[in-house]
Amino acid sequence: MEQNIKITKISIFKALIPLKEPFKIALGVIKEVESFFIKIETSTGIYGMGEVAHYHAVTGETQGTCEAAAIDLGKLLMGNNPLDISGNLNCMNRYLRFNSAVKAGFDMALYDIAGKVAGLPLYALLGGDKRVLKTDQTIGIDTPEIMANKALIFKNDGFTAIKVKLGESLETDVTRIQKIRERIGPDIKIRVDANQGWDYPTATVALKRMEPYNLEYCEQPLPVWDYENMRRLREIGITPIAADESVFDDKDAFKLAANGCCDILNIKLSKSGGINTAVKIDNIAVSAGLPCMLGCMNETRLGLTAAAHIASAHPNIKYLDLDGHFSLSIDPVDNGMICQEENITLPDTPGLGADINREFLEKCEGVVLD
Ligand code: MG
Repeated sequence: MEQNIKITKISIFKALIPLKEPFKIALGVIKEVESFFIKIETSTGIYGMGEVAHYHAVTGETQGTCEAAAIDLGKLLMGNNPLDISGNLNCMNRYLRFNSAVKAGFDMALYDIAGKVAGLPLYALLGGDKRVLKTDQTIGIDTPEIMANKALIFKNDGFTAIKVKLGESLETDVTRIQKIRERIGPDIKIRVDANQGWDYPTATVALKRMEPYNLEYCEQPLPVWDYENMRRLREIGITPIAADESVFDDKDAFKLAANGCCDILNIKLSKSGGINTAVKIDNIAVSAGLPCMLGCMNETRLGLTAAAHIASAHPNIKYLDLDGHFSLSIDPVDNGMICQEENITLPDTPGLGADINREFLEKCEGVVLD
């Protein structure tokens, strides 16, 4: 065993990755991703990579805040045993509240190291096995006609579940779903995500009027804080309700489950602060009898590979929205998960089995702590 392994060097890398086309959701329009990666090197030569998929409107972080936080957190971890993942997370959480995405980057790199030291792919390190994984693909907010055309393209590309961004205006949102259902027929699953764009009265009318179009579930119809109306909306029972921005960590998951506020918990590494707490959320969901969804930001296949490993190891994660890489204009990841149509295949190499391309990293701006 690697008894004396120590963290010896931490590097952060920043880059701008444009999207293929602007992506609009109820919280704003995204045109490019301010990518951010953390590399943790150790005294044995083994290193780990993590992705920081911050999004200001959800996690409250920017590339600038992530850089400042990563420098402080990196100094805290220097010299520590990287295999003591809980200890390192406690260290970060005691020092700095919130900042979940940057903490997720450290957590992911630490799990990558642990998998490499153990000689196990992450899904096996987490105590699981390979299983069939299928992702949906997401349509951003646009005119009903353009969205219906995209839905048909995704159907023809082999996707059996389509996620539709809504939350802009009630009338147009209803038209969007009507047009999409007409275009793709009855057999493709449609899940919608209002990204907090409705209030309670609007959400009740919207879901009632969309009932004929057979929605699979509705993600985050109401603002983050509105647990009470999420519970009321769920009790009406038109469409299953998934919590996304309302559930960051295991404490949120426990409160939502205990108060009957949702039917599904959407885990994202950038919200949970990484893999360690993502697993805790799924454990709470199992105890509460709720399935989980695993989602993503606009991010590279590095972060998505980590997420897919967790989903593979945790069969209670029944819904996957791991499509963030489709929207990026470049793919800077070597190896990692492969997405063919909706089917995700995981690597069997130790750790994440994914890395950021060396030539890409050389072009990134960076800071080194050693
Ligand atoms: Mg969402």
